[in-house]
Amino acid sequence: MASEILIHSLERLAHQGCCLLPCGSNKNPLIKSWPSASGLSVQEILQFPGIQAIGLRLGPSDARMFCIDLDGQSAIEKLQKHGLNPDPDTWIIARTGNPHRKKIAYRLSSSQLSDLGANPSFQGKIHTKGAADGAKGEAIELFFSRNRQIVIAGRHPDGDKYVWPDGRGVDALRAPDDFEWQFIKECHSRALQSPQRQHRADHSQRSNTRRANPCPICGRHDGPGGSSLWCEYNQSGLLFCMPGTTFTAPAGLRVGDVVSGWALKKITQTPDGPVHVFGEHDPEKLKRQNHA
Ligand SMILES: [Zn+2]
Repeated sequence: MASEILIHSLERLAHQGCCLLPCGSNKNPLIKSWPSASGLSVQEILQFPGIQAIGLRLGPSDARMFCIDLDGQSAIEKLQKHGLNPDPDTWIIARTGNPHRKKIAYRLSSSQLSDLGANPSFQGKIHTKGAADGAKGEAIELFFSRNRQIVIAGRHPDGDKYVWPDGRGVDALRAPDDFEWQFIKECHSRALQSPQRQHRADHSQRSNTRRANPCPICGRHDGPGGSSLWCEYNQSGLLFCMPGTTFTAPAGLRVGDVVSGWALKKITQTPDGPVHVFGEHDPEKLKRQNHA
């Protein structure tokens, strides 16, 4: 995996202050608490036991690295409808096995970062095609948060590889131009106003919800390596397990499945991902908890 070009590029990224992460075969970072951990050196990454891919953490504090993730033909067309080139002359992470799935990377300038105001971190998603007949949904996603990392090299879980097209390697990395920046800023302000975020704000101000710390389903907790987003119990004792990358409910759960004594009642799709709603499975346990 470690060609000379790759090593040169990784060193260049590390030198700019990027955080590189060793990842396993399922795009999963192999270091715990990776959203808050400090990055490893290129040598440490390449020698990391079990490494299958290399991840890059995003956001304001990691060299202002920004990513537009294009998932599918409809996402590429949507970007074009916004007047943007889906193949711009910056760093692009593509895949050998799927021409319609790729990531466009930018490094924001300092003035662009300050342009985003007091809450620069965000994630945005524009759905471009619903999931149907077993096919995955398609979307444009924007990532600028240290809770997000993208795989930039190595093997994809589907078996193909990540590649950087000719002339679109790390050396081409640049800041968004004025036109691209306008699109990104619109997505940023929309993300800050999203109903999901407002719902959460309303939700946490109500006294009848209680933080699940830690969440019995996904383990989300506060403190080092913890999360700013909370899973919580409502007043009827239902548990809302929020979507996330580090902390997330087990994949493939179906209504009725039981996890740690909690039965899955409902899955609500939100722009950030599925919210899993659980009810207490064991009435005896509920009684004990209420008396604790
Ligand atoms: Zn949870």
